[in-house]
Amino acid sequence: MSYRIAVIPGDGIGNEVMPEGLRVLEAVGAAHGLSFTPCHYDWSCETFKATGRMMPQDGLERLRDHDAIFLGAVGFPGVPDHISLWNLLIPIRRTFDQYANVRPVRLLAGVPCPLAGKAPGDIDFWIIRENSEGEYSQMGGRFAEGTEREFVLQEAVFTRTGIDRILRYAFEFGKQLGRLHVTSATKSNGIYHSMPYWDERFAAMAAEYPDFRTDEYHIDILSARFVMSPERFDVVVGSNLFGDILSDLGPGVTGTIAVAPSANINPERIYPSMFEPVHGSAPDIAGQNIANPVGQIWSAAMMLDHLGHPEAGQAVLHAIEKVLSRTDGPKTPDLGGRASTAELGEAIAAEVSAQ
Ligand code: ATP
Ligand code: MG
Repeated sequence: MSYRIAVIPGDGIGNEVMPEGLRVLEAVGAAHGLSFTPCHYDWSCETFKATGRMMPQDGLERLRDHDAIFLGAVGFPGVPDHISLWNLLIPIRRTFDQYANVRPVRLLAGVPCPLAGKAPGDIDFWIIRENSEGEYSQMGGRFAEGTEREFVLQEAVFTRTGIDRILRYAFEFGKQLGRLHVTSATKSNGIYHSMPYWDERFAAMAAEYPDFRTDEYHIDILSARFVMSPERFDVVVGSNLFGDILSDLGPGVTGTIAVAPSANINPERIYPSMFEPVHGSAPDIAGQNIANPVGQIWSAAMMLDHLGHPEAGQAVLHAIEKVLSRTDGPKTPDLGGRASTAELGEAIAAEVSAQ
């Protein structure tokens, strides 16, 4: 099988971790009879500074006929975050209807956990974040500007279709994994209209899945439970904002956001899905070749799953855990070692080839 992959390294450490993602992809391809043709797109904040655009006018058209999009990280000091986000990432997610953002939260062997007494396997669940509507909206504005009465209005839009499709995705995801337990993140005591509606839709969806156990937690106590008892979760579903926050908290609880992957999925497979590490461009360490490439490499594993090669995805994850759990193995500084980005990437690729 042969796949065309659109590759957007982006900014900062995106340029350093992407080659390692591609290196491992090539290694796993060779071992599993898959070939990947990467098409590189240098769209980034640099492009914005030079041309006034994050990507060319026909950028989305160019991405459309790829089998998947593999992204590093976008955003850098000098270009406001809302520009890089709203001119690249969000248009890709929305144009290609990637409404399900899937993020595993798993304590990996070899990654020190900030919570006492946790072993690999203790923390192992999935966050499903709504990725197309909700709180991340451009509706609203500034009013009575420059007067004493100045105020801003920020709207959130929750559609029945939008809520139902992400809830259904979460239940189906759990069913496929054999994890028949879905937790919903809500805040219906403080947010007057949208969250009670979300709860109502969640109850309706839960009724269609009688085999499942369901929980609903307000986002504040849910955050506390992520830290106090992360073992209790299987699939956690939340709105765009709540899912975003939880999916940095989850990797934080398992040691480091640097190893965490994410998938922006178009479940109907009409458009390409996009795979990217959870972390950003990390300007503080960019250019030093010390960034941890595991988030990018694990994102490649999720891409393999989505393309229909779960055994190849599993091989990558297995190689990551094997290399990280070696006491004398290469570790980047965030994991307490002195290895470079490339040394860790090379070791994982070698492990994939050796399996
Ligand atoms: P974004 O808004 O794009 O999500 P952010 O502001 O949340 O970005 P990151 O770029 O993710 O920030 O960086 C947060 C911290 O984590 C920084 O101190 C950074 O150095 C560290 N970090 C992020 N990714 C990595 C990585 N792959 N390896 C090592 N450290 C990392
Ligand atoms: Mg962030």
